[in-house]
Amino acid sequence: MKPRKRQSKIPNELKELFAVIGSDASAFDYYWRQRWTGACADRIKEAFRGRAGIPTAKEQAEATCNITADAFKKHAGEVRKILAEWVEEWIALEHKSLNFRKANKEAGDAISEFLTKRRMDIVYAIKGPSLLMFIERAKVTTTDEAVRLFLKLITHPLCHRAAKCKRCGSLYFRGNERDNRYYCGKSCSNSAKRPSAKKAAEDKLAEAKRWLAKVPDGADAKEWVIQNSKLTRHWLTRQENAGTIQFNSTSQRRK
Ligand SMILES: [Zn+2]
Repeated sequence: MKPRKRQSKIPNELKELFAVIGSDASAFDYYWRQRWTGACADRIKEAFRGRAGIPTAKEQAEATCNITADAFKKHAGEVRKILAEWVEEWIALEHKSLNFRKANKEAGDAISEFLTKRRMDIVYAIKGPSLLMFIERAKVTTTDEAVRLFLKLITHPLCHRAAKCKRCGSLYFRGNERDNRYYCGKSCSNSAKRPSAKKAAEDKLAEAKRWLAKVPDGADAKEWVIQNSKLTRHWLTRQENAGTIQFNSTSQRRK
């Protein structure tokens, strides 16, 4: 299954990153299948989709990696974990990569090592962005894969649009420059605006407890709350029966 429609605003170069760290499970599966099973011919086709020219057989062979789909799928969850942690921290630091470098030494070291030791090569494009990929038949670790995707993100001109949803915590890409919403989608912004039934019930109970604390000595607690607050007798009785509110201790003080 192809990634859902909502993903379509993500730039091509960041699609694989968001397939890994985003909340869309089908995009995640799609990514790993694209990345490792169909191997490089598919990947090149996908990355170069809509552009003129076909990568040569030599380019395709060079892009082929000796790591199997199964081996990578096993590591998929770990790459996601490493990457999501870095991206979240970097977003929290207002997309400032220098601050991220200072704050997360481990990630900084992994990036340095990756840039020093891993051989990357470029598949030049006839038109549009070129494709940067591993050419060595070397074992690529989960950290390396996380670094590769993270570098794609922090070097992208639209990197500041990567965001974390205030409600569900998922990582997403903001659709346009004026878009300054805090939520990943309609369902999250709606739920955030309208408090859930559970939250409303909790609020009401807290209100009742605030009133109970104000009951003057000697007064009948329940009657006093009914008279002074907007809480109804019916609701208070229900809470009393359910045991969420107790009037006894106050009532017993009554002479
Ligand atoms: Zn959300």
